[in-house]
Amino acid sequence: MSNFIPLSVPNFCGNEKKYVDDALDGAWVSTSGAKVDEMEACVAQYLHMPRAVACASGSAALHLSALVAGVQRGDEVIVPSLTFIASVNPTTRYVGAEPVFIGCDESACMDPDAVEDFCANHCTLRADGLYDNATGAHVSALVVVHVFGNMADMPRFLDIAQKYRLVLIEDAAEALGTKYTEGPLAGRFAGTMGDVGAYSYNGNKIITTGTGGTLVSNHDDWAVHAKHLSTQAKTDVLQFTHDEPGYNYRMTNIDACLGLAQMELLEGFIAHKTARYEQYRAALDGVKGFRMLPFREGTRSNHWFYSLLLPDRLERDAVIAALHEQKIQTRPVWSLINEQCDYGRNQAFALETAREYRRRIVNIPCSTNLTEQDCARVIDAVLAL
Ligand SMILES: *Cc1c(COP(=O)(O)O)cnc(C)c1O
Repeated sequence: MSNFIPLSVPNFCGNEKKYVDDALDGAWVSTSGAKVDEMEACVAQYLHMPRAVACASGSAALHLSALVAGVQRGDEVIVPSLTFIASVNPTTRYVGAEPVFIGCDESACMDPDAVEDFCANHCTLRADGLYDNATGAHVSALVVVHVFGNMADMPRFLDIAQKYRLVLIEDAAEALGTKYTEGPLAGRFAGTMGDVGAYSYNGNKIITTGTGGTLVSNHDDWAVHAKHLSTQAKTDVLQFTHDEPGYNYRMTNIDACLGLAQMELLEGFIAHKTARYEQYRAALDGVKGFRMLPFREGTRSNHWFYSLLLPDRLERDAVIAALHEQKIQTRPVWSLINEQCDYGRNQAFALETAREYRRRIVNIPCSTNLTEQDCARVIDAVLAL
């Protein structure tokens, strides 16, 4: 009887227990504690940023991003339609703004041509910013998501953001460790190039703290403000005075212990994920009509999630069920966000590729402890479809 192969599971093979034990011994379990500061320093150093703000989740980091970026009630924010819901809710509805949805290009990340087309042909650039011709709303921000750890086209998005005076929020929840290796942005990590960036350490991400996240910013005062907001905007620890409505969004010391241990493992996890991706690619890409979605050239991707593009002869949900029969867990990409909640009323552009990927992509097992043998079993099962 062969074993169940999960899609993506946490891997605690380092100092996790030791660090958590130390924290429990000292009873430092909540949002104060030295490990939270250490986690911030560790992530900041890894990303070559002056400061990192440890948050309760990636969603919290994204909500804080929209707040410190000054996205206002009634504003519009340009977001991708092919992403996890938490790219959108915290950066739009949480702050009273409305999304404008844009589809993806071949990379599965938001299509820069379609964003530029919206800004140039559906909006007017005034002295005080970009305005949507259809609604009259101020278009104040652009949320770029590095889908599945694949770098979005940052030179283009940086250019568009500057040209149309948009704040650029990077959702790098899935892309910790992804960086440019060539070109003018060589050495720059996903999440560190825009105005503000967010990472997630949820259970299925490349490293996990159970639930947690980080915010970084190229405006140091924004990062300082985000930390202030994440700790109830408290101005005096003795008198408990607060100067604005804040949030309980800080990471806990226990989660930071997990995070510090996981950060020690991150580069090894990336190497492992890259090797397994290459194993899949060599066996499946271009074989029997299957394709493996590539990661962007000129980057070192963290290879977080692998996307198998199905041939037209195969139906997605039947494939998922057939692999499940073989004890192999897979999943489709997300339902398009513009078709959910009440986002159907919002504008949406250039969705063809997003719809095609929604129909044809299956994410296949990619855990950081996936063995070569298990990977081979998945390959055999796929080729037998
Ligand atoms: C996981 C994820 C988030 C949210 O992170 P949480 O830590 O789960 O709140 C946001 N955006 C994307 C693209 C994600 O994959």
